[in-house]
Amino acid sequence: MNIRFVLNILFASQTEDPAEWLPRLKEALPHDRFFTNPEADIDIALVATPPEGTFEALKSLKLVQSLWMGVERLLADPAFPKGVPLARLVDPGMVAAMSESVLAHVLDWHRHHYIYRVQQDARRWQRLKQYLASDRTIGLLGLGELGSDAARKLGALGFNLVGWSRRPKKLEGVTCLTELNAVLERSDVVVCLLPLTPQTRHILNERTLRRIRLGGAVINVARGSHVVAEDLIAVLDSGHLAHAYLDVFEHEPLTHEHPLWTHPGITITPHTAALTEPRTALPKVIENIERLRRGEPPLNLVDLDAGY
Ligand code: NAP
Repeated sequence: MNIRFVLNILFASQTEDPAEWLPRLKEALPHDRFFTNPEADIDIALVATPPEGTFEALKSLKLVQSLWMGVERLLADPAFPKGVPLARLVDPGMVAAMSESVLAHVLDWHRHHYIYRVQQDARRWQRLKQYLASDRTIGLLGLGELGSDAARKLGALGFNLVGWSRRPKKLEGVTCLTELNAVLERSDVVVCLLPLTPQTRHILNERTLRRIRLGGAVINVARGSHVVAEDLIAVLDSGHLAHAYLDVFEHEPLTHEHPLWTHPGITITPHTAALTEPRTALPKVIENIERLRRGEPPLNLVDLDAGY
């Protein structure tokens, strides 16, 4: 591959603010040229939700660097250049933010805060039974960058941990399994931190949700299509699960009239469990740009066959 010293770099995103990225990129890479519209001689595309048609114009592309951790949308774009390496972002600030969101939701359920908020509305003074963290088991679906960091931090609080991955794994303090039902049946709370692939779409449905322990909770901070929303509502209405925390939805933004908004058993956040943090992501992006310039393989390449 013939890599020139000066690289043409495209920034294309409908969600990430160029004003946060471009001044920092230009300062760190003063010799490179930056673009916000697709041009034929772009070498590297920095993308997150790029405008439709972005890839069609790029004829000399050598690297696509995602500015998000999940890449399923890029892979679903029929114009995505299949032969070009795709690197996903592993951003330490984003990983930390995700673990904070997971801890917040787990503790909200564990300490009954979702019930105390309802009691406050009714001015009801009623103490509920206290549990120790060691009374609870948290099941993590996905033990990658996000799942393993959340596991470490939940473990520090004393929760029991069980986790699910595609390939066998060893993580200190986590019972790592490759059989989904075995994870669900041991779990009081299930946290979804899976990539969205054909194998994981709708993985949380009536059949699987009912395997979670009675009175438990579900936290979906991965992708909306991991959950069958109607099935979740049915399982909450049946009283099997106590609460669900949903950050992501099959169609975003969630429409005004969607029943999830008003369900008393559901807490909603607007896809904010972990945002890309340019201050911590920038060094990772620059590292991959410099690796490409040196002719070295970029880090965090997506396995196109696995889909993540
Ligand atoms: P990652 O490092 O690639 O880890 C993915 C984990 O899922 C791995 O442990 C993998 O198993 C496991 N997995 C994948 N397919 C599986 C299957 N079919 N069966 C069982 N386990 C499977 O991903 P990550 O960086 O942790 O990110 C996970 C996802 O979080 C992203 O893809 C993105 O969609 C989502 N996310 C959401 C937000 C938000 O704000 N809501 C922010 C960032 C990311 P192996 O270990 O065997 O590969």
